[in-house]
Order: sequence, then structure tokens, then C-alpha cells
Amino acid sequence: MKLDLSELIKSTGAVIPFHFEGEIEVEGVELLSPVVADFKFSNTHRSIIIEGELDVSILAECVRCLKHFPLSIHFPFQEVYTRQDLMLDTKGNLVTEDEDIRSIFEGHNLDLSEFLRQNIILALPSAPLCSPDCKGLCPICGKNLNEGECQCAQQKVDSRWRKLLDYKKKEV
Ligand SMILES: [Zn+2]
Ligand SMILES: [Zn+2]
Repeated sequence: MKLDLSELIKSTGAVIPFHFEGEIEVEGVELLSPVVADFKFSNTHRSIIIEGELDVSILAECVRCLKHFPLSIHFPFQEVYTRQDLMLDTKGNLVTEDEDIRSIFEGHNLDLSEFLRQNIILALPSAPLCSPDCKGLCPICGKNLNEGECQCAQQKVDSRWRKLLDYKKKEV
């Protein structure tokens, strides 16, 4: 989805709110809800500011137990561009060589889907947990320890106790 920002860029002092709700494709991420984003575009004398916040629910994978679980993401964003950043040549193309700007702007048209896609990637947690006290998987048998203890844990405790008991015996 393209949004023409040329009016905003021409009008110093302008503030334009914009509400977006829709599907966005993000490679390698399963989105469980449409993306909802509230934008505020403003033109201060010096810069063009794109700010707001987005909400989306994704299917995350717990780093400890590898279970998939729904995760709600709320992400505030803010990008500031100078007049120079958004300067056009006589053909209406961006003069800047900045790849970040060129990836979301075509002339003065903002690629809203690409902007949101990039921000969703920034918002993804690096180590998602299904719950703060997730017990993870047993390193020996791979059982999900949130679903109950496995035999391995039992044996480990047993052998530790056995050693202690042997020690006690020797002391006596
Ligand atoms: Zn987990
Ligand atoms: Zn085990």
C-alpha cells in the first residue's frame, strides 16, 4: 500500500493522523491477526516525522521449550527525515543514496506495507518465552518439563542422594 506524502512534505506545520488495519506479509513470521497501526505524519520546519505505534499478534516459538504460542506485540516507532533525505530530482526520484530511505520511499510515496514490515521485524523479541517461568526441555530425553518431570531428573537426584548417603556411611 502506497501513501502519497507530497502534500505533507510541501506544507510546513502540517500534522496528518492515519489509521491502518490490514494484512502484512513478513517472511518467516506467522501473523495471527491483522496489523493495526496508528500513524502521525508531521512536517516540522526541519524534518518530516513518521511516528506512531503498531499492534499485531504473532505465532512465536519459546526459546526454552520450543512450543509455539501466540504473542501480542505492541511497538512504538519513530522515523525522522530531513528535507535533504526526501529531495527529488527533476524526474521525481529520490536523490538520496540511503538504502533505508529508498526501501520505503518511491519519490514521495511511502510504501506503508514495507514500513510496517520493517518495524514488525524490529519489534520481534530475540528470546521469546511461553511463560516467564518456563521450565524448558530435559537436555537428556527432550521432554517438555512444563508437562511434568521426566525419569532423567529423578535419576539425577537419586544418584546425588546416593553419593551423599555413601559419604555419610563412611563418616560413621
Ligand atoms: Zn516454553
Ligand atoms: Zn529427561
